[in-house]
Amino acid sequence: MRHFAVVGSGPGGFYTAEALNKAYGEAARIDIIDRYPVPYGLVRFGVAPDHQSLKAVSKRYDTTADTAGVDFIGNVTVGRDVSIAELLDLYDAVVLAIGAPHDRKLGIAGEDLPGVVGSAAFVGWYNGHPEFAHLHPPLGGTHAAVIGNGNVALDCARILSKTRGELQGGDIVNHALDALEASPVRTVTILGRRGPLQISMTPKELGELGHIEAATPVVDPADFPDAEADEALEPGQRKSVSLLRDYAANGPDPSKPTLMVFDFYAKPLAIEGDGKAERIIVERTRLDENDRAVGTGETYEVPASLVISSIGYSTPPMEGVPYDERGGRFLNENGKIADRLYCVGWARRGPTGTIGTNRPDGYEVAAQIEAAIAAGSSDGRKGAEGLKTLLSTRDVMPTDYDDWRKIEQTETANARPGSPREKFVRVEDWLKAVGR
Ligand code: NAP
Repeated sequence: MRHFAVVGSGPGGFYTAEALNKAYGEAARIDIIDRYPVPYGLVRFGVAPDHQSLKAVSKRYDTTADTAGVDFIGNVTVGRDVSIAELLDLYDAVVLAIGAPHDRKLGIAGEDLPGVVGSAAFVGWYNGHPEFAHLHPPLGGTHAAVIGNGNVALDCARILSKTRGELQGGDIVNHALDALEASPVRTVTILGRRGPLQISMTPKELGELGHIEAATPVVDPADFPDAEADEALEPGQRKSVSLLRDYAANGPDPSKPTLMVFDFYAKPLAIEGDGKAERIIVERTRLDENDRAVGTGETYEVPASLVISSIGYSTPPMEGVPYDERGGRFLNENGKIADRLYCVGWARRGPTGTIGTNRPDGYEVAAQIEAAIAAGSSDGRKGAEGLKTLLSTRDVMPTDYDDWRKIEQTETANARPGSPREKFVRVEDWLKAVGR
């Protein structure tokens, strides 16, 4: 019998466990370890609560968790409760699937002012992540800004702009739903340091902006090069740009009070205010011959009492694991970090791609493991049994998938009408729900 540990129960972790299970069948036991008693990682804490269809992928992960030979070990923080070296003693191979939960820094003056939050924190707040449940983003002003032109920036801007009626059918947590409903924010400026042809937003997500009940996109027609420039774009990007061109041509819908203002060629230089964020100092840019943003020297102010920085994520370093500082992920070669130590997903590739991108990624790493470690005896490695013995000496009480089912049942029972669940946002509440 072989023993494999997959650290992290988001998409990368579950697809890897699924692939390892298919490869080894009954000849291996696979433990999916998570620091929380609740699984799904990015699907629970990252995917926007008004995109429930994307969250449905968790059903597939449940099937994997229900498979004989696959177990979930929750409430265990690798790096704190157990080290990587200890896991490598207990398991034939360890796969790190811990995602990229940290916000990249802007590196500009004023980014630590109250009122400036990273998108991981803001998304975590409305998605019930226990680390960010008490963020209290300042929603009392009329102007907010989101820095970045990716899909996460779009998620944040959309959630700020939707009505209670539009949000309440999803699994946004009550504290965020109430705070957003009470908020007077009516202008959300989305700052991109480059132009409309360089956005990282996808057509489906951009298209949604045309159908928001009380908010309308505002795009300046003067920001676009001639239409022929779109011909060089790949089809998805061309579609995104054509949506922006439509928004620019049609103008904002005057019946809608909230404006989602696309400010292109806009590079934040500093965030200023009297003890809290009040405005962003922005430099107008132009593109050089390689489509990089170059400052023009012209500056202006964008008022914002809430500034959400959405410029990408990084994987935190872990003791004993080589780390790529520049890339913000583990140093690896096609997913291999060292002998018997692998990584998948954003911890491997950096924070790009959709949930589905993690499937081939997990399968590829599982195939490498299969090639390197033949089915057979585990050389005395004790897997879950050894891990649980070790954890009991450290007063760590792991949870399993049955515990998650109990939590899930309570969350479902507590849901407001029309919503699939009301998430617990405190680790203590998860543990209480399973009698700990
Ligand atoms: P992203 O797609 O990499 O976008 C990051 C954005 O930040 C880019 O526009 C980038 O501009 C900008 N940026 C980086 N550094 C900056 C700086 N110092 N100042 C100003 N702007 C800066 O990352 P993301 O939005 O975090 O998304 C992560 C991944 O998740 C993406 O693959 C995304 O598509 C995916 N995702 C998908 C969905 C969905 O399918 N519904 C939803 C959310 C996220 P430059 O281009 O100029 O570098």
